[in-house]
This record gives sequence, structure tokens and C-alpha cells, in this order.
Amino acid sequence: MAHPPITRNALAEVTAALNAWLEIDLDALAANVRTLKSLLGPVELIAVVKANAYGAGASVVAPALEAAGVDRFAVVWPHEGYLLRQAGVTRPILVLGHAFPADATQAVRARLTLTCHSRELAAALSAAAVDAGTTADVHIKFDTGLHRFGVELEDGIALAEYCRTLPGLRVEGLTTHMANADEADDSFSEEQHRRFAQAAEALPWVPYRHTANTATALRREAFRYSGVRIGLALHGELPANTPGPALRQVLALRARLARVSDVAPGEGVSYGLTWRAARPTRAGLIPVGYADGWRRSLSNAGEVLVGGRRCPVIGRVCMDQFLADVTDVPGAKEGDVATLLGADGSDRLTATEVARLAGTIAWDLLAGLSGRLPRIYHRSGSVVTIVPPAW
Ligand SMILES: *Cc1c(COP(=O)(O)O)cnc(C)c1O
Repeated sequence: MAHPPITRNALAEVTAALNAWLEIDLDALAANVRTLKSLLGPVELIAVVKANAYGAGASVVAPALEAAGVDRFAVVWPHEGYLLRQAGVTRPILVLGHAFPADATQAVRARLTLTCHSRELAAALSAAAVDAGTTADVHIKFDTGLHRFGVELEDGIALAEYCRTLPGLRVEGLTTHMANADEADDSFSEEQHRRFAQAAEALPWVPYRHTANTATALRREAFRYSGVRIGLALHGELPANTPGPALRQVLALRARLARVSDVAPGEGVSYGLTWRAARPTRAGLIPVGYADGWRRSLSNAGEVLVGGRRCPVIGRVCMDQFLADVTDVPGAKEGDVATLLGADGSDRLTATEVARLAGTIAWDLLAGLSGRLPRIYHRSGSVVTIVPPAW
């Protein structure tokens, strides 16, 4: 749970005794919502806040997004929807993934819009809605070629017509998801779009349609339909194939050097001694590891910023700490701030860049930022909320 708001504490004061923390810039988040809304035009902005809002912390980020004017939210697990309601989200919450009929009562109570994939789920939702004296909205997801979640076109059309006959149930939306949206060649989206349009044509009475993630929404105006499901771009990052608007980086990961030690030429550092000093080296110990989401694949590959300078990761990343070569940072000492993601001086590390160094993608890196990291939310340099470590 979030602490009560703490106002007017400078970030520096709040983090003085922290080994490591995440900073979430709520001004940047709101600015990205404004930029995306003006770019995307009159369609709804559906904020995808699955996986704890891509590591940024959904309990604070989702209400901030609601205040910034997003129209709806999307998550993948029903449980994520319950947590959003606990956090005070009032707008519609779409569950993009699987739900069991046994979840129907709780889902109706929380006013979640489930993706209905079976008659059993439809019947359970109908019964729960009638019991509660309300109407439950569902969306039908067509599998148009990703072959992940969803139903075949003919089955989906029949399922929608079945749902239509049930009391307390309303088919509000039709949806699909693109397989190659983030690829250099995303032309298969056109075939998926053709299949989706064919199914949707059979169900003209369903009012809402959505097919686009960040890449599709920004690259293909024709696929925006009623609303677009935006995750990554809210955080100021864009898929590699997506030329985009100037967005602001929302999240910074910082730590304080826990030790600065001398490593003589020929000596090695960290498990396996996979890196050895070629010159007299100053090694900065950074108290963050793969348990926090700082990938082990960044061993001898990643970079951090100390004093505005790039310092290479040396040796293996351990569960809770790793080393960086701070030899070229004059006077580097215990307590100095190391930036692992975000800006320091005129340089910055984006999730996209760090993910590339780690051999993965920005989504994977962000979603892996663990609950051990305190999350500090700020506006104009003033801390507004802190979510402490949790597991
Ligand atoms: C995660 C997800 C999105 C958001 O994708 P971004 O590329 O982060 O915008 C959209 N739709 C579905 C079905 C998803 O699972």
C-alpha cells in the first residue's frame, strides 16, 4: 500500500539512506498522455498497466493516468483488475487475458470487462450479473493469426451471438492482437486486419473495436478503431520499428555506490573472476542485482552513469550487487549516485538501450523490475508518494 503523500521533500533527502530506488516522474507520465492523445486523435486511449504498470507501480501510476485523462485501462489477469480497483481506479478495466468461470462473481463486483472466450464463462458472468442486479460487459477476442489467446473467427461470431441471448450480459467490444506489430516487416498486420474486419462485419451491433498496441497505433492509423491499447509509449519508450513523437522518460533506476575499491592490474572481480583489470582500476560496487531486474546478461556488457559519465559493468552481475569501472569518474566515493536507467547530466540510459545490452527488449526489462526496489513518485522534484519494498 502507498504511504500517505509526503510533500516538498527533495528527492535527494528522501533517498539519502537508500541503497537503490526507482524514481517515477508523474509529470513526464502526464505529458506523454497529452502527447499521445493529441497525436492519436479522437480514439480512446486504453492504458495498458499489466505487470505492475511495466514495473512503474500500478497502484500510483494508474490513478495518475486516470487523472491525466486516459479513457480506460487494460490488464491481463483478473487479479490485476482487482488491484486497480483497490487503488481507486474508476474507469473501465479491460482484462485482456484468460479468466475462469469461478472468477465471475468477483469480476462482476469489481466491474471488470472480461474477454469472453467460452460459453461457460459467458453463462457464469450472466448469472453473476443477474444476481448483482447489473449488466456485465464482455469483449470477444478473435485469433487472427497470432495463435495465442482468442477464439477462431466463426467460433467468436457464434459466441457473441450466444452472449447476446443471455440476460445481464452485453458484448461491448471486439478485439484482436497483431503478431508482427513490432517487427521491421509488419505487413502480416494487414492480413490480420482483413480477418478481423471480416469477423467484425458479421457483428455490426457490437459498438467498440480495438486492435492496436503502441506500434500498430502509431504506424497504422486505419487500425486504431474505437481505442488503442498503449503500454510502452506511456513510459516514453518506442518499439524499434516505430518512428514517434518526442516522449519523456518516466522511470529512473538509481543506486548509491556501496564501496569504491582499488583493483590492481591482473586482479579479477565478482563471481568467476570473468573480468580482470588491465590498469589500476577503481571499482564501484552497486547494490542492485538480477533480483531487482538488473539482468545477469548485463555482466561485462551493461553501462551505468556516475557523475554524468558512462561506466562499464565489470564482471558478473550477482543477485544483489555488481561492479562498475569508475576509474574515470574523479573522486567517486561511497554514497555517490549511480544511474542505471534514466538521465544523469547530459546523458541518459533508456530501457530500450539497456535491454539491447542485456540481449532483450524494453518490455522484458521494465516488467522485470522487482518489488524490492522502493518506488518514489515525484512531480517537479517534490516527492509525492513512496511505495516501499514489498514481496
Ligand atoms: C501488452 C499488450 C499491449 C500493449 O503493448 P505495447 O507494445 O506495450 O503498447 C496491447 N495489447 C495486448 C493484447 C497486450 O498484451
